[in-house]
Amino acid sequence: MDKNEKLHNIRHTFAHLLAMAAREFDPNVKMGIGPVTDDGFYYDFLFTKAPTPDDLKSFEKSMRKFINQKLVMTGREITTEEGVKLFASQPFKMELLHEYAEEGKILTAYTLGDFTDLCKGGHVTNTSEVHADAFTLTRIAGAYWRSDEKNPMLTRIYGYAFETKAELGAYETMLEEAKKRDHRKLGKELGLFVFSDLVGAGLPLWTPKGTILRELLNDYVWSMRKKKGYQKVTIPHITKKELYQTSGHWDKYSDDLFKVRTREDREYAMKPMNCPHHTQIFAAFPKSYRDMPERYAETTMVYRDEQSGELSGLSRVLAITQDDAHVFCRENQIEDEVFIIWDIIDQFYKTFGFANLRVRFSRHDPEHFEKYLGTTEVWKKAEDAILSLMKKRGVTDYIDGKGEAAIYGPKIDFIAKDSIGRTQQIATIQLDFNQPLNFNLTCTNEKGEKETVVMIHCAIMGSIERFLSVIIEHLGGNFPLWLSPIQVAIVPIGEAHYAYAKQVSDMLEEKDIRVKLMHDNDSLGKRIRNVKLERIPYTIVIGDEEVGNKRVTLESRDNGKIGQLSIDELLARFAKEITDKAR
Ligand SMILES: [Zn+2]
Ligand SMILES: [Zn+2]
Repeated sequence: MDKNEKLHNIRHTFAHLLAMAAREFDPNVKMGIGPVTDDGFYYDFLFTKAPTPDDLKSFEKSMRKFINQKLVMTGREITTEEGVKLFASQPFKMELLHEYAEEGKILTAYTLGDFTDLCKGGHVTNTSEVHADAFTLTRIAGAYWRSDEKNPMLTRIYGYAFETKAELGAYETMLEEAKKRDHRKLGKELGLFVFSDLVGAGLPLWTPKGTILRELLNDYVWSMRKKKGYQKVTIPHITKKELYQTSGHWDKYSDDLFKVRTREDREYAMKPMNCPHHTQIFAAFPKSYRDMPERYAETTMVYRDEQSGELSGLSRVLAITQDDAHVFCRENQIEDEVFIIWDIIDQFYKTFGFANLRVRFSRHDPEHFEKYLGTTEVWKKAEDAILSLMKKRGVTDYIDGKGEAAIYGPKIDFIAKDSIGRTQQIATIQLDFNQPLNFNLTCTNEKGEKETVVMIHCAIMGSIERFLSVIIEHLGGNFPLWLSPIQVAIVPIGEAHYAYAKQVSDMLEEKDIRVKLMHDNDSLGKRIRNVKLERIPYTIVIGDEEVGNKRVTLESRDNGKIGQLSIDELLARFAKEITDKAR
């Protein structure tokens, strides 16, 4: 049994223990479902008298009591009749029971101590296999039965659970650290982006500082693409409905589309992705095999209608800036083009200290083929191509992402581990044989025949908003020199030092260094504290000595005092650190 399965079984067992504690708290409790989550478990209940957060301690206590009783977990298949008897007093269980029976599923019941639950299994066999101090109940929330607001509102109790107390402790420490680094908090403290009630949730507005970050990141991606023959293109943000009817988005993507009606009563939509527009640039002029590949890049916003409850900071927004690119190529060019993108992804993420990216092969879900464009033959071809590319690239240990494909094709998704150990999905490369067919995208081959081309979709950052949320937290707001909206703070100690400080500031600005001259009525101590709060990479303090010898005393945010330098030494040091994109 692998570690994941073991953890799953432990967490699932805790869900049963929680149900037993709930029954002890309220003998008439009605039970919903109790699944495993990424960090523990939850169980939904309908209480006659709902518990308060203070009651969770007594729930934990009774769970520990049951654990210490070394209870045995046994499971067995049951008939519908047996189930009806077993769960007569449990209306939610009865509903599931009848539904499973109708679907022809095998019914199983699991018993722990004297508590029997309708459950498909995956537990430890004895509560001595779970640790009484490796779990904690975390919070109470409301949840509609089966997530449907027409159904009763149940009380959901969440818990964390791990194999050992140490693992639980490490997880809680990580959460504490994540809270300190929360990009919503840091974004506000550092003045990078704001939200306005008038503009609306999910629509971040970027301040001058935040805009510097966005543009520097985008320039970096572009500098790598430019060397590889990419060209910039520009498209409008809306389109006639017909474009998306042809692409297939109008049917398959309809719920997420922002639709716009014109004064002439025609239907338009805000673009949720850029590919359909880009195909029309490709298709506008006849292409020969000599023109291939064509590589279009465009950093632009797309719009997706998300439920307002799902919006969160920069992680989930309605207007998403993609550093998007589409490569139109022939089948025999796929490998070269994918590997070019793969190299860019590796280099870009290495810059931020994300090494050893993991790869997920995101393929279609064969049981829900209706969600996708195209035929099974075309999907097989695209997925086989991706598998062979991964193999050539030496990727043997990949995550199987069944059902994670885009609607038009399979993807290679890249997963990074951030500085506090969380996994983040980052870049993606998508292979698309479907849209070229829908839009009849061809080139004339060596024999003078029309040949359908292939599209490769790739965004290096994915969305700038999400990428920034990831790196703000990964770096704890401490941007490296090249990326920092303000690179150097200059702090004159007193009024007598201002003139030289201003001179230094002008010399740095002349070399495109982003400087903040901290000259106001605040005390020296307060100004130094502000530099720290703003997480400015370097501080130059100027006093009598510096004015006298025309040098500067440099201090680094990350490495402490550096000492006195001449202006030339200072500029050379900054120039190198910026060019190297040093961390
Ligand atoms: Zn179970
Ligand atoms: Zn695309």
